[in-house]
Amino acid sequence: MMADKCYIKKEDKVKVIVGKDKGKIGKVLKVNRKKSRILIEKINIVKRHSKPTQQNRQGGIVEKEMPIQWSNVMVMCGKCVSPARVKMQRLEDGNKVRVCVKCGEALDT
Ligand SMILES: [Zn+2]
Repeated sequence: MMADKCYIKKEDKVKVIVGKDKGKIGKVLKVNRKKSRILIEKINIVKRHSKPTQQNRQGGIVEKEMPIQWSNVMVMCGKCVSPARVKMQRLEDGNKVRVCVKCGEALDT
């Protein structure tokens, strides 16, 4: 199996392409490169019943995002306004940036 290259970074806007949140767009909150998982704002929400605590005597339902596989999402290109295939491009100063394969727009600002 080929190792997945991850072009996703924190703060990216990504679109979910597989699963129950398919089609939704959210902001990346966390990237776990070891586990190939990312946490996205308002995506893959699970409800948990919390036990009563000192602060919250009633207990109740807490909604919480759970990480999903990064292969289940694509980075959004702000110019195409659609999910983009991403490639790395080397700049004249030697730095690398991520660019949208389709329109060539840099995704890093
Ligand atoms: Zn684009």
